[in-house]
Amino acid sequence: MRHAVFRLFAREPLHDPTRGPDADARREVKTTTCYMCACRCGIRVHLRDGELRYIDGNPNHPLNRGVICAKGSAGIMKQRSPARLTQPLLRKAGSERGAGDFEPIAWDRALEILATRLAKIRASDPKKFALFTGRDQMQALTSLFARQFGTPNYAAHGGFCSVNMAAGMIYTIGGSFWEFGGPDLARAKLFVMVGTAEDHHSNPLKIAIADFKRRGGRFVSINPVRTGYSAIADEWIAIRPGTDGALFMALLRELIANDLVDRAFLKRFTNAPQLVVLDAGEREGMFAHDRDPARGPPGDGRHPHNKLVFDLASRTIVAAYPEGVADGVDPALEGRYALADGTRVVPAFELLRERVAACTPEWAETITGIAASRIRALARELGVTALREAFELPIAWTDAWGKRHPTTPARPVAFHAMRGVAAHSNGFQTVRALAVLMSVLGTIDAPGGFRHKAPYPRHIVPNFRAFNSPAMIRPDTPLNAAPLGFPANPDELAIGDDGTPMRIDHAFSWEAPLSAHGLMHTVVRNATRGDPYRLDTLLLFMANMAWNSTMNTVAVREMLNRKNADGQHEIPFLVVCDAFRSETVEFADLVLPDTTYLERHDVMSILDRPISEFDGPADSVRVPVVPPLGECRPFQDVLVELASRLKLPAFTTAAGERKFSDYADFVVRYESAPGVGFLMGWRGANGDEHLRGAPNPDQWQKYAENDCVFHLRLPESMHYMRNWNREYLDYAKDKGWRQKNDVVQICIYSDTLQTFRLAAQGKTAGRRPPPHLRERIATHFDPLPFWSPPLEDAFVDRARYPLAAITQRPMAMYHSWDSQNAWLRQIHSHNYLFAHPSVARAAGVDDGAWCWVESRWGRVRCLLRTSEAVEPGTVWTWNAIGKADGAWQLAPGADEARKGFLLNHLITDELPGEGGAVSNSDPVTGQAGWYDVRVRIAPCSAGEEAATSPQFARGAH
Ligand code: SF4
Repeated sequence: MRHAVFRLFAREPLHDPTRGPDADARREVKTTTCYMCACRCGIRVHLRDGELRYIDGNPNHPLNRGVICAKGSAGIMKQRSPARLTQPLLRKAGSERGAGDFEPIAWDRALEILATRLAKIRASDPKKFALFTGRDQMQALTSLFARQFGTPNYAAHGGFCSVNMAAGMIYTIGGSFWEFGGPDLARAKLFVMVGTAEDHHSNPLKIAIADFKRRGGRFVSINPVRTGYSAIADEWIAIRPGTDGALFMALLRELIANDLVDRAFLKRFTNAPQLVVLDAGEREGMFAHDRDPARGPPGDGRHPHNKLVFDLASRTIVAAYPEGVADGVDPALEGRYALADGTRVVPAFELLRERVAACTPEWAETITGIAASRIRALARELGVTALREAFELPIAWTDAWGKRHPTTPARPVAFHAMRGVAAHSNGFQTVRALAVLMSVLGTIDAPGGFRHKAPYPRHIVPNFRAFNSPAMIRPDTPLNAAPLGFPANPDELAIGDDGTPMRIDHAFSWEAPLSAHGLMHTVVRNATRGDPYRLDTLLLFMANMAWNSTMNTVAVREMLNRKNADGQHEIPFLVVCDAFRSETVEFADLVLPDTTYLERHDVMSILDRPISEFDGPADSVRVPVVPPLGECRPFQDVLVELASRLKLPAFTTAAGERKFSDYADFVVRYESAPGVGFLMGWRGANGDEHLRGAPNPDQWQKYAENDCVFHLRLPESMHYMRNWNREYLDYAKDKGWRQKNDVVQICIYSDTLQTFRLAAQGKTAGRRPPPHLRERIATHFDPLPFWSPPLEDAFVDRARYPLAAITQRPMAMYHSWDSQNAWLRQIHSHNYLFAHPSVARAAGVDDGAWCWVESRWGRVRCLLRTSEAVEPGTVWTWNAIGKADGAWQLAPGADEARKGFLLNHLITDELPGEGGAVSNSDPVTGQAGWYDVRVRIAPCSAGEEAATSPQFARGAH
């Protein structure tokens, strides 16, 4: 006994599964990168006789420093899952989609079928091929494939995930959370987390929060539910879903009213002092500009070079940029002025002050449920901590106008926000309000505040224009722009002359002009309707569109199998590539078996979403540590193979030969610009150049020798203030991260949004939205942030459906992959609907009982648990645990299909609109409004079946 106790504290494991006879000779440890969630921790994979034995965290990895979570260690069970697909499958002739009635076929045949079909489409009308992907990490390759193919119909999952967070922040401060930036908890004193449960940035954030709390930092969590990170917050502020914007507006009001704003920062580094035209006409609401044509055309987001400010020192109007705020000039933030020609103008900040004036804490209390006194106190705490507990770091830097600063100012208030804020139809303007709040406190790229990660910050608007002209779609021709980008004005929308969307998901149309991540959640419905045209082939990669990745699951399952009058499917050919037999696989005509993350090469690329740190760029890779199971092939290899067979130019030599043998070869030798490739480390013939350099044939080996990660620490003078840091801006341009080395002036006021609003108001001569969308565009493209109720509220009787219903990712699982993982199923095999005890009592539902949860759009039977850790107007559950019976090779009647349930059945994908139904999405970005659904709960009747409803037998839809 005594011996066992001592062994508990020993460094040696109690049971080492890799030990045994000749242990050392038979053991091997390989490093790679985890993919049990999107966080991308470094891991060590322990093998014996080449067989996977266990996985632990890699102590040398910069992201997780050895930490591993339950999901990460359970990767071994992904390898052993009975749900693995192991060979290509073809739907049997005459069988129904959804029945999962397949015949196994050889890869050669599968590739031949697909390549022949795609070649015909490409030679006739490339847009009839659509490629949409789920939570993958290879968008640099998939988007290149789509562009080279010549189809605009490409996107990943961002439109139904968190595009509001990305676009709302990028259009305001030039960067966003997670891969693109995050809270500097090493120097913060106050940390405010909003709408975040378990997160993409899981282990690194947990490590940072632990250190932060040990240093005495104060952590406030604002969330309808107190789980995950909120459970260890010093204070939980319960808020009603979809109301975060009202809170941010009230905080802005309090900070401005009490002069707790960083005025020097606002004057120098934001467009707050820039003068906005008040007079009616086509320049109304745009920034006034000087008339010198050499300084660029009148402003939109891409041309910030000629704005004006009112100088309080000289009492004259002077240029705001590129001279910037010269010493001795004191730009006004308030007041009203007139230009020499009499045009009335006002500083943008004055408009913000007027906008928030009515947003009192009392107003916000009625919306958010947070007491006005608490909002006031929080505003004061934010302002006092950011400005009166500020300090300077002894780090000298030079600003974009050449002025040397001997120190770097810290603003020790850090925010973090995610999907809880974003996944609402009012999410874009809510995120804008948060970004403006962070900006008035001066926290952008400041020590202790929000910090960017390379290649961010981007220009506002980023210099990536999406495809936007029908003339670009031509047979056998690549698109001359990427399918996704960042529009800066109506001319950059992907619409035809009559305003019709050019993409199957209606991205970059008047329905969702700034849909930088596409609208994957609209694809099946639009393709079924033939709106705006019919597809031939839809390829879905690891996206569970027949189940948890879709709104209105019942309807989408029916649509996937819908046939026209001739008995042909409305979506003629459906290809699904996945590692597992998900619900969606059952609907495929052709199934391609993918590998797991332990069986293939992967790249977390600077061209996509690298793992950069605050102090410099970083990227990482996965290398195969075990051979593929059965006949599984990495999807990347399949794309390179298809691209080679189709002779897509980037994959073909001048002599018409295949250029790359496989994905690993492609990664090393492909260059997006001279010297710029998928990987930044060990470039050049000798592997001694970083970031930019000729291809290095030994690059994979170099990464494998270096724990699969490359991390370059930049000099301290480039660590902060990068929106305006001359040294960094020049460096970023030189390394190919940005096309220009311009400053990234923060957009308190967005003239980009105003260009769309002017079009909707009929005040400009160019493109205008169709009549039924004019009011919607004019309202939501407000150049200043505002709060409005989620769109769904207009169609739902709140008295009948008094509760908000939301989902969260459980800490032990990520998406639908993990609720079939043998180890993780032992943690949760089903989910509950959590409700406050007072809500359950009022509805007459006992703790632990079956109940009905019902929205205007559908109803689901589920198990209810009461919880004090949820605000009383909200019910919630874990997402993606409920499964269709028989899917994922789970035994018939498995808990996941009987007790687990899917909230998606209650969510609509469309809302009524004047000119016909519109997507249930944010009108600016197209972000799916998952968390806007309103519900009520009721007890089950006596004798009802103790199982979730609806149920789906295989073959039913
Ligand atoms: S946080 Fe995500 S990436 Fe990191 S170990 Fe856990 S599952 Fe893997």
